Amino acid sequence: MNNSLNTPPIHYLDKVIYIASVGYSGSTLLDMILGSQDDITSLGEVALLARYARDRAKCTCGEAVGDCQFWNQVEAELSKQQEKEISLKNFELTPEEVKQSIFRKLPTLTDLSLVLGNQLIWKLAHKFNNRAKLFRQSALNAINVFDIACKVDQTRIIIDSSKYALPLKSLYMELQDKFSVVFLVRDGRAVCKSLMKRQSISMEQAAKKWARYNQNLKLVMSSIPKNQIYNLSYERLCLETETVLKELSDYIGTSDPIKIKPLLKDKFHDIGGNPMRYRRNETEIKYNDNWKSSITEEELRIFEQYAGKINRSLGYD
Ligand SMILES: [Zn+2]
Repeated sequence: MNNSLNTPPIHYLDKVIYIASVGYSGSTLLDMILGSQDDITSLGEVALLARYARDRAKCTCGEAVGDCQFWNQVEAELSKQQEKEISLKNFELTPEEVKQSIFRKLPTLTDLSLVLGNQLIWKLAHKFNNRAKLFRQSALNAINVFDIACKVDQTRIIIDSSKYALPLKSLYMELQDKFSVVFLVRDGRAVCKSLMKRQSISMEQAAKKWARYNQNLKLVMSSIPKNQIYNLSYERLCLETETVLKELSDYIGTSDPIKIKPLLKDKFHDIGGNPMRYRRNETEIKYNDNWKSSITEEELRIFEQYAGKINRSLGYD
């Protein structure tokens, strides 16, 4: 690892919008609406970029990351800038260990300082602690990729919907006022029904997972200024689309008002996300509340036990 941790130059990037959400909350939908605007590039769950490159997993354009023209250009620009051969396969945008949740065990001092700390603590931590240094290096790599992605795509705003709590905080620490969060929530009962189906888990597992994930996000966001967080619900995005898009245009500061556009295949080079990414020409937002008719009394009772309180705190009765 590079010991000096040089901050990469930022020439093209004005702003990173981080979509903080639990999976199945509509983040793919939001990511793609935003990513189809002229001055925005969405990169999806870009924290997984190196792993996708190693596994030859598919980019949204349909090519493997290693064969994708966009990512090849990013890789070439990175190599040119750093005057050495850079491979996306080992250019980590997030430390592997963050894929585990933050506080499942007793929190380490490093984690606490990363989660709750201010700039001073952040600076001290990465000087003296290797884990903190790893987080910082990953954040710097991500910023480097974001800036170059803006150059390649001729945009100035990046959407990152990676969903990981600690990298979110690390990016904020490095980018400060160039960083904003969209905290996207959806009724936990709906999300848990999706989690149960997609991940073959019980309601108890789903409810615990959902509650913990939201708590983690809330915890890291507690040290980010309120005006850098936009709270949005999937339900409002679907049912009050026009108002929400107007608010988002102002919040993000796009050159033109955000509009729903046909999703053009060539425009997207997202990492990860749900199969919606591969469907083309969807221009209509369909509000999905199928969970209401399929959830059982027993599932509702279990959800209430593990996640009812936090669901209400997010505005769901
Ligand atoms: Zn691609």
